[in-house]
Amino acid sequence: MDKKIESIGTALIVGGGIGGMATAISLAERGVKVDLIDLDPEWRVYGAGITITGVTLRAYKHLGMVEDIAKHGAITNGSSIFHFSGKHLRDLDEPAVDGEEPATGGIMRPVLHHLMQERIRALGLSVQLGLTVTNLENREDKVDVVFSDESTGSYDLVIGSDSVHSTVRKLCFPHMSEPKRTGQGCWRISIEKPPMLEKGEMYFGHKYTVGITRCGENTVYLWMLTPHERREKHFDDEELYVQMKENLEGFGNSAGWIRDNMTREHWINYRPLAAKLQPGPWSNGRIVLLGDAVHATTPHLASGAGMAVESAIVLAQELAKAKNALEALNAYEERRFDRCRDIVESSIAIGAAQLEGAPPDQIGGMIGSALHRLAAPF
Ligand SMILES: Cc1cc2nc3c(=O)[nH]c(=O)nc-3n(C[C@H](O)[C@H](O)[C@H](O)COP(=O)(O)OP(=O)(O)OC[C@H]3O[C@@H](n4cnc5c(N)ncnc54)[C@H](O)[C@@H]3O)c2cc1C
Repeated sequence: MDKKIESIGTALIVGGGIGGMATAISLAERGVKVDLIDLDPEWRVYGAGITITGVTLRAYKHLGMVEDIAKHGAITNGSSIFHFSGKHLRDLDEPAVDGEEPATGGIMRPVLHHLMQERIRALGLSVQLGLTVTNLENREDKVDVVFSDESTGSYDLVIGSDSVHSTVRKLCFPHMSEPKRTGQGCWRISIEKPPMLEKGEMYFGHKYTVGITRCGENTVYLWMLTPHERREKHFDDEELYVQMKENLEGFGNSAGWIRDNMTREHWINYRPLAAKLQPGPWSNGRIVLLGDAVHATTPHLASGAGMAVESAIVLAQELAKAKNALEALNAYEERRFDRCRDIVESSIAIGAAQLEGAPPDQIGGMIGSALHRLAAPF
């Protein structure tokens, strides 16, 4: 049984995405009375899949959710690297995390959200949707909160897990700034599993990098990284379909199968990438940031969600260890800063190498060595 938290009694979590939900579960299970709010009135997430690396699986193990991911998503034995034309080059050098076989999981984001939301409902937490904060004020031992519906509250701790454009960050952390564009964009499609695909696949040697992650018995998502070109307006649905199909020209094996079998009915999305490790301090009095709000990264190591879950666990562990909340927040930042910096900086460096046309061995090596560093205990 996890140690009970005595350094705080109540917490407000602003933002119920992966990081906020992981924090809510970790704190509530250690006896904290948690209120969670999310700006989205329907508490949705978009329809992509998400890659759950071995390191992220270890983090989800702390939440007791690995069986759920295996049952409702997929856990496969590592990933293979292909030349874009379809020739198998080698397997990705993935680490054994905590002595387990190298594993790569995947799950559809809406399924993962639903599983985490069910845990939160089972814990009986208060969840209010369509709500954010408009003012946060530190007092000696509480934070006074004004909500967007003009109601007010008072908490021992406020956690800003409201993502890249965090309102909590803007309100309380003037020394931080918005994440920076990296020069690449990410295309994603959710589609049926190509018949030849067994485990995760990556395709190198083309100016566009492609990966495919299995997310269930018969579901995968494909991601593709391309140089980002400035546009006047967002791609509409037809442009997304036509452009993505065109981008996949010349790709073989499962990536070619997806190009030939994709339709306008499949979920397709394009998003320019941005990243930033925010400078410390990550807390201001009893207000603290977590997840993309403070360590936003790109998908190159498929680790952003894993880092958010790890941060949630570390925050709860430090709150359980410390005599007072401020001590715990310092210890949280100390344990997280260098590890998150490694992820953010390595991800940006891999993206830059792809933009420069680095060979498959170099890219594969950069990914493998970063994943090995991440396998160290967090
Ligand atoms: C293209 C792309 C692909 C990725 N692929 C992977 C991957 O394969 N594997 C992986 O591990 N990571 C991946 N990531 C990273 C991962 O998605 C994020 O790191 C992760 O979702 C961060 O969790 P979070 O809780 O901080 O933010 P989010 O999951 O974004 O959740 C934030 C929540 O806050 C809410 N919110 C926003 N503003 C407010 C507000 N003002 N008030 C209240 N609520 C608010 C939102 O509605 C949302 O529910 C990818 C990222 C990108 C961009």
